Amino acid sequence: MDTTQRHASREALVTDVLIVGAGPVGIFAAFEAGVIGLSCQIVDGLDRVGGQCIELYPDKPIYDIPAVPSCTARELVDRLMEQIRPFDVPIHFGQRVLSVEVREDHRWIMRTDKGTTFDAAAILIAAGNGAFVPQRLQVPEAAALEGKSVHYSVARLADFKDRDVVVAGGGDSALDWALALKDVAKSLTLVHRRNGFSAAANSVAVMKRAVEAGEMNFIVGMIDSLEAPDGELRSVHIKQIEGATQIPASKIVALYGFVADLGPIADWDLDVRGGRIEVDTSNYESSRPGIFAVGDIAQYPNKQKLILSGFHEASLALRKAYTYAYPDKRRTHIHSSYDAKLAERVQSSHASGT
Ligand SMILES: Cc1cc2nc3c(=O)[nH]c(=O)nc-3n(C[C@H](O)[C@H](O)[C@H](O)COP(=O)(O)OP(=O)(O)OC[C@H]3O[C@@H](n4cnc5c(N)ncnc54)[C@H](O)[C@@H]3O)c2cc1C
Repeated sequence: MDTTQRHASREALVTDVLIVGAGPVGIFAAFEAGVIGLSCQIVDGLDRVGGQCIELYPDKPIYDIPAVPSCTARELVDRLMEQIRPFDVPIHFGQRVLSVEVREDHRWIMRTDKGTTFDAAAILIAAGNGAFVPQRLQVPEAAALEGKSVHYSVARLADFKDRDVVVAGGGDSALDWALALKDVAKSLTLVHRRNGFSAAANSVAVMKRAVEAGEMNFIVGMIDSLEAPDGELRSVHIKQIEGATQIPASKIVALYGFVADLGPIADWDLDVRGGRIEVDTSNYESSRPGIFAVGDIAQYPNKQKLILSGFHEASLALRKAYTYAYPDKRRTHIHSSYDAKLAERVQSSHASGT
């Protein structure tokens, strides 16, 4: 969506609701916010939407979404994004929320690690298991080289131009980036611990063809040390089932997947138990009025970690959030099938194809 904002802003971005997390529940929450007349913005630590659906099981089928007998997790996220399109919701990628403070007028000021500040009437935490952080390269030299020659994502292809690049991993991200980087790098070597991949079969086939054509290399093994005299990466040592090999490298992109981390949300004076936020099930509000928790991060008796449950929780939470954004207004419920304004928005979004 063209309203997606990738850059941090110094001025506070004012919104009715700030949604933390662009997983399926955060995305649907943005739709519900739009339907009931609340503006919202979304922030996510990753550089794409979808949460667990995209990071953990994009091509697996889901069977328990009402009225959708079967769709892959990726298709579900695509459909949710289509559903929120009429509301032009700004999504701030690659930013983790850090601090939150309440003003005298009861509005919330929230800051991210990239310096973006939000000013919101309510906060909806849809952070799943917490922010996904990359599984790091487990060799002693890696920490000092992080961000310089050891990377866990690719921000700009140009940074890898004419370099000897090693991509490590066997999932979708590793193969996608290996195939993209081979076209700009001086040399590209994919290193994976086995000759089998969790990446899509099509990407594996394309990678194998590229290796046969001499466009890139593939080594089965594990990176076990880096040679970086004077802080400059020169080569990578790879342990193999039989023996070892050393290859020249000035950049490594390690794409071993992510682990989840609740991070600073744990310090927001919320009632957090076992990494989950306790909520009141009448409106999914946390122990701090104005901060709501929905989806996998919400905890209450008999909680089911299902997308379906998160959708319901978001819907009730936003109705209470409305009372913080518009304390003097009385909201009357209209079924979506009778909501003329909503119908017009949806139709004009379809007509414009945006
Ligand atoms: C293999 C597998 C199969 C599954 N199958 C099904 C199924 O068939 N049906 C079903 O209903 N459920 C299924 N689930 C569960 C379902 O995926 C989760 O219930 C759902 O993803 C929860 O959605 P969410 O939006 O609450 O959280 P998530 O999907 O976890 O998304 C949370 C988002 O918040 C972001 N975030 C977290 N912390 C921060 C922060 N501090 N700052 C910024 N961003 C942050 C994360 O980056 C992430 O994008 C399955 C789960 C797995 C692992």
